[in-house]
Amino acid sequence: MKYGIICAMEEEIRLLLPDLTDCTMTEIAHRTFHEGKLYGKDVVLVQSRIGKVASASTATTLIDRFHPDCVIFCGTAGGVAPGLHVGDVVIGDRLVQHDFDCGVPERIFEIPLLGIKYFEADKSLNNALIKAVENYIKNDLHSDIPACYLDEFGIKSPTVHTGTIASGDQFICDNQKHEWLYSHVESLACVEMEGAAVAQVCYEFDVPCAVVRVISDSANDDSNVDFDRFVKEAACHFTRGSMKAFLSAEK
Ligand code: SAH
Repeated sequence: MKYGIICAMEEEIRLLLPDLTDCTMTEIAHRTFHEGKLYGKDVVLVQSRIGKVASASTATTLIDRFHPDCVIFCGTAGGVAPGLHVGDVVIGDRLVQHDFDCGVPERIFEIPLLGIKYFEADKSLNNALIKAVENYIKNDLHSDIPACYLDEFGIKSPTVHTGTIASGDQFICDNQKHEWLYSHVESLACVEMEGAAVAQVCYEFDVPCAVVRVISDSANDDSNVDFDRFVKEAACHFTRGSMKAFLSAEK
């Protein structure tokens, strides 16, 4: 089993890279694909950069050139559903491109000529990820992230959620947009900028896909400050902790 793992930002991937062993690096289209062993499993790890085009083109190269058996996207998101707090983790059961509108109101979010609005994540990957992230939070989170940052972000006992993840080429930091998204996207949990693009590529290649997102901000008027602090001090711990717990538990 070979796992493709994508993060958007250097801050998200930076603690995973030093843990890779037997690593071969390949540069393609300004991305570095790191092939090797991570926590005992075969992986290809790559930083896509931010947004739907960057992540879709990275996923395409990853699948076409490296043939992973599944693709996991791991990063941060703005929490939209009430009850989601900074530090909680969302494992997306469905992914939608919230900025896709072909001009017919009842077909909002539908990808024309494909006829799909919501791309499904892989259920067995999701079940394994839920368990792994719960274990990380219970056993390792509090020794992993310095207490001063846990206090700063108000993180006590984060919880793991499932729901729809909506992606678009916009950083959502506006109360009105937040409300619009919550009322238009079915079962919306959080918003980010890559997951649904990767899910579409995986769908088209018929490769199982999952998206794991730690909540860095609340996709509202305060998001810019909250996101910047969180991504600097905490995001890398969540991505490494989640992937370590997941890959270590895989057969
Ligand atoms: N401030 C950065 C851009 C950050 S974009 C710059 O100036 O370059 C935000 C990244 O985190 C994206 O990869 C996205 O997937 C995720 N994200 C976290 N919170 C988000 C939010 N509220 N809205 C959209 N994306 C968010």
